[in-house]
Amino acid sequence: MTVWERLRNPCGWRAGAKQISVDAMLPLVVVPTLAVIAAQAVLCTIIVFVTTPILVYYLYHNFLRFLLRTKFFLMWTITSVLMLMLVFEISVVPLLEILPEENLLFMVCVIGGIWCGYRAKLNADYAAQEGVLVQGLELGEGSGELCTACRRRAPPRAHHCRLCQTCILNREYHCKWLDCCIGSSNLRWYLGCLFFSAIAFIYGSNLTMTSVCHPFILIGTVLLPDDCSDVYHQLDIALCFVSALYSLLVGLVVFCYLMYHLWLLYQGTTSNERRLDAGSQYDHGILKNVSRLFCCKT
Ligand SMILES: [Zn+2]
Ligand SMILES: [Zn+2]
Repeated sequence: MTVWERLRNPCGWRAGAKQISVDAMLPLVVVPTLAVIAAQAVLCTIIVFVTTPILVYYLYHNFLRFLLRTKFFLMWTITSVLMLMLVFEISVVPLLEILPEENLLFMVCVIGGIWCGYRAKLNADYAAQEGVLVQGLELGEGSGELCTACRRRAPPRAHHCRLCQTCILNREYHCKWLDCCIGSSNLRWYLGCLFFSAIAFIYGSNLTMTSVCHPFILIGTVLLPDDCSDVYHQLDIALCFVSALYSLLVGLVVFCYLMYHLWLLYQGTTSNERRLDAGSQYDHGILKNVSRLFCCKT
């Protein structure tokens, strides 16, 4: 922790009132470096894609979670979106395989995703600062219970967030990648962000793959990549391929999150409430939970 604190502010230098923290700046260097390493050969790609989640988890578990509010994950999101967009516009579009309307649809989804994500964060910050909880009380949702952490009366279905240091109405979870809480103040923007970014990531990945690999026609103008064996011969083409792979993986994860939230909406609950409900039965670590689920009621 001491080393990390010193690293965060190496010379005690402050830019105005803002402290430059190393954890926030790290993704700016790490994400492009990992992309270049992964673009060297197939083996490098596999190693980078397998070890990166493990390294990020290690970093989070040993350092980042002790910082009250790290911008590491938000900066990772911003760097990744910028990098993928730049690779697409600078390296993929000049290959002249992409139609102008395909590029337009991709950019509309990218901008839609960024705008919804920005609004989700803005609304969450506003709700945390202004205490939108009061509005929840005025809506006649009852007096609610006193939150022991922020010493305020919170309406029913409000839950405290340790990182935002306030109670959030219909709290889902604290989204590290946007660095804000998801609750009733911003859920619609968050879902919009998931929707647009899932399309942008998966569609952008498909456009890139079919430009750098040998494609085959699925139906009409819909192409799928077929043979990608010679992408590593040129660094910029390899970089496009690796970016497309990264984009596809992120897109699939985002799509799963979108489906999960639509299912929660259908069920009329939140992920936080589901966790609390399940807490009594399944909060004893993965091994015990699995054993409880399948056999022994220990
Ligand atoms: Zn609270
Ligand atoms: Zn939060």
